[in-house]
Amino acid sequence: MTKNEIELLSNLKILYVEDELDIQNITADVLRSVCKEIVCAENGVEALEQFDTHGDFDLIVTDINMPKMDGITLIKKIREKDSTFPITITTAHTEVHFLQDSIDLGVNGYTLKPIDLKKLMITIAKAADARVLRKQLEKLNASLIQRVKEQTYELNSILDSQDSLIAVSDGNGIHTINKRFLDFLGLSSLDELKEKIGSICNIFIKEDGYYFTNSIDEMCCVSQINLTTNTDMFVKMKNANGIAFIFKLNISIYEYNGKHFILSLSDITTLKSQSDLLQYQANHDSLTNLYNRQYFNGFLKTELNRAIRYNHPFTLAMFDIDHFKNINDTYGHDVGDEVLKSISDLVKNHSRDTDIVARWGGEEFMILLAETSINIAISKIEQFRILIKETKLSSKLTTPVTVSFGITQFLPNDTLIEILKRVDIALYQAKNNGRDQIIQI
Ligand code: GH3
Ligand code: MG
Ligand code: MG
Repeated sequence: MTKNEIELLSNLKILYVEDELDIQNITADVLRSVCKEIVCAENGVEALEQFDTHGDFDLIVTDINMPKMDGITLIKKIREKDSTFPITITTAHTEVHFLQDSIDLGVNGYTLKPIDLKKLMITIAKAADARVLRKQLEKLNASLIQRVKEQTYELNSILDSQDSLIAVSDGNGIHTINKRFLDFLGLSSLDELKEKIGSICNIFIKEDGYYFTNSIDEMCCVSQINLTTNTDMFVKMKNANGIAFIFKLNISIYEYNGKHFILSLSDITTLKSQSDLLQYQANHDSLTNLYNRQYFNGFLKTELNRAIRYNHPFTLAMFDIDHFKNINDTYGHDVGDEVLKSISDLVKNHSRDTDIVARWGGEEFMILLAETSINIAISKIEQFRILIKETKLSSKLTTPVTVSFGITQFLPNDTLIEILKRVDIALYQAKNNGRDQIIQI
C-alpha cells in the first residue's frame, strides 16, 4: 500500500456489514488497526440504524447475502439518502448477478470472498478518495479568500496526493490538473496539455457504453443530471503508451469566486473487465460460446411479451443432431465436441444479428427468429439444414452430419410453456419421420 492510502485509511470511520460473525470479527480487527473507527452491523436493517444514528461515516463495506435485509437493498436505501456515498461490497464468485446489480447501483469498488485483507484496504482507500478530497477542499474553502496564494499551493499538493486523475474546470476550460493525470498522459504541464491536446474532451475515446462529448460545459451539466438519476458515467482514455483504460467519472461542484467543477476519474479497468467476464461466463455455454439455456429463456420471455403486446410475429426453431451418439462412439468424444463447436459457429455466422442462437443442452439447440413469420423462417431454416449437411464439420469425419428441426411460430395467447412444448413435439416428429428434415407445427 502507498503512504497516501495508509494516511487516508487512518482518517476513515467505516460501517462494516457482515452476517458471518467469524469473518466479521477477523476483518473488523484488522481494519481497526489501520482505520480511525470501525462500527459493525450484522444485516441491512442494523446497518441502516447505525448509519442514521452515527451520521458521520466516511464509507460502507457491505456483504451481499444477508438475512433481514440484503446488501443490494441496503445500497439502494443508502443511495436514496446520499447518492454519492462511498460503498464497497464483498462478494463471492457465485454471486455474479449481484455484482452486476451493484455496479448498476454505482458501488465504488468490490472485494471477492474469501477476503484478501490487503486488497480490501486498497479498495476502501480508492473508494473513499473522492469524498475525502471534497472534505479537504471544503475545509480549504473556509479560509480561501484571505489566503489565495498559499492555498493554490496547498490545493495543488492535495490534488497531487490523490490516486484519481483530477482536473478542475470553471466550466470553460481546465485551470488545474494533478500530477497523476499529467503522468498518465505523458505530459509535464497544463500548458503542454493545452498546446498538444487542446480540450480535455479530445482524449476521451468515442465508443459504445462510454461517455463522449466535445464540451466540458456539457459534460458538467450531464453529470449533474446523472447525479440525480444515479447514472454512472464511464469514459475510456489511452495512456501515454496507447493502452486504453476505463474510468468512472465523478464531477463535484466547488464554489469559490464562481462555480468550479472538480473532475475526478478513478481507474476501474479491472473491475469493469472482470465483471464483464463473469457476466459472460454466466450467460454463455463454455464449449460452444453460444448463449446458455437460462439466458435464452430470458430472451424468449421478452420476445413473447413483445409479440403479445404489439402483435408481432416470431418463430422458434429447435434442432438436434442426428445419431450424435454414433459420432461419439465411432470417432471419440473429442470429435463429438468439435462437431458441436463447428455447428454452433456455422449457425451463428449465418444468422442475422437479430436471431438468437443458444445451446439448449447436449446436442440440442434453439434459434429464435425475431420479427419473422414462419413462411420466411422455414426457408432460412432449410438453408441451415443444407449448410450443416454440406459442411465438413471435422477433418476426421467420413460421412456428413445431419440435423432435424422442429419449428413453430408464435400464436395469440401463447405461453412460454406452450410454445416450447410445440417446438419439442415438432422436433420429435422430425426424428420419427426419418430425421434430416424440418417439421412445422
Ligand atoms: P437422435 O438422432 O435420436 O437424436 O440420436 P442421438 O444419438 O443424437 O441422441 P441421443 O440422445 O441418444 O444421444 C445424444 C448423445 O449426445 C449422448 C451424449 O453422450 C452426447 N452428448 C451430449 N453432450 C455432449 C457433449 O458436450 N459432447 C459430446 N461429445 N457429446 C455429448
Ligand atoms: Mg441427437
Ligand atoms: Mg438429444
